[in-house]
Amino acid sequence: MSKHNRISKILREGESNGDGWLLELSSSTGRKVFAVAVAQNNRRSRTGPTWSYVFENDGWTSIDLGTPGSYEALKDGYSTIGVNPSNIERVIISHGHSDHDGTVTQFLDDSSAELWAHQSYGPLKEYIPWEIHYRKGSILQREVERIAEEKIQITNESNNDRRDIDKKYFKDRKQTHVSKDLKDGDVFSDLKVMSTPGHSPDQICLVLDDFIFTGDHILPEITPHPTSKMVFRDTISENLPEFLKDPSGLYGLGTYLNSLGRVIELGDSYTVLPAHRLYNKSNFNWHGVERAGDILKHHEKRLDQMLKKLQGKTSNLEETTKGIFERSKLLGSNLYAAMSEIVAHLELLEDTKDISIDESGQISMQGDGTNYKNYISKLLDPK
Ligand SMILES: [Zn+2]
Ligand SMILES: [Zn+2]
Repeated sequence: MSKHNRISKILREGESNGDGWLLELSSSTGRKVFAVAVAQNNRRSRTGPTWSYVFENDGWTSIDLGTPGSYEALKDGYSTIGVNPSNIERVIISHGHSDHDGTVTQFLDDSSAELWAHQSYGPLKEYIPWEIHYRKGSILQREVERIAEEKIQITNESNNDRRDIDKKYFKDRKQTHVSKDLKDGDVFSDLKVMSTPGHSPDQICLVLDDFIFTGDHILPEITPHPTSKMVFRDTISENLPEFLKDPSGLYGLGTYLNSLGRVIELGDSYTVLPAHRLYNKSNFNWHGVERAGDILKHHEKRLDQMLKKLQGKTSNLEETTKGIFERSKLLGSNLYAAMSEIVAHLELLEDTKDISIDESGQISMQGDGTNYKNYISKLLDPK
């Protein structure tokens, strides 16, 4: 049995994909932490349920809720552990993705709970993500737009439904009031805040006793999607607080990998409590911070793969993407996801000066292409 298995009681067994499980966990200080797997209600998702965590720390505290439409499932889970939304004093959102804060408006209506989130969550939730980024900021992002326009047609019923749900979610979310803006290093009684941007600009991890709640920063089984570097549109940038005007430390693969390094520094006495995949395929996934190292190594391998293909020749975004992913992963909107992932990696290689990209989008290797290896090995071994 993994030393990171911290179950003191199974309160309810759920589905093989994790839906519906209820656990009581016990920290090194004997504190109870309840883990509630909230099924995704309204969309097919490979990430599985969202794990909402509930514990006492200067009053009842919740971390993360679930997707839009999953509020009844959340309430049902909470009532089985003996807690109602009205008992909760604060809801902390690990980051502003809809599978985490999708029912926050209902929750706040039903309780007198406060909403806490990273300080960039409040200003950014005023906008729909795809409206705030100036995607044409770099040649690579210009290429993504061009190829996507040419190759991807997305208009079918289910996408329209999905868009309506999204619209309502973004509209509702704008109305919520954030009571506390969290920053790296903040401490509330026994709970410590770590800012770990990269998967999203507002992603935080929370440390309580020997538990680390990682949101989507570190997940078992799957490698969280890294953002690519972003530039805020001028019109929006004007309205953002000073600390958000320069988004370079909040987005991109380099930012994400640095944030993985920070978790590794905590050391292996900590147990990872992720927002997804704690249970899947009829098995628990217990990890310490070594999972952050595995994710770093996954990206190192991908960077390595990309550089190997560049040896002695030039390439462009489309060719590089096709060289890495199998055909089935390049169909329809999957192509967009695949290209974004490749862009994130190319941006990093450009920063480490292992490649250069010219104005026409031609990519070529620079030097012997090993700078990124030194960079990653430092993150893997912080001493
Ligand atoms: Zn996310
Ligand atoms: Zn998520």
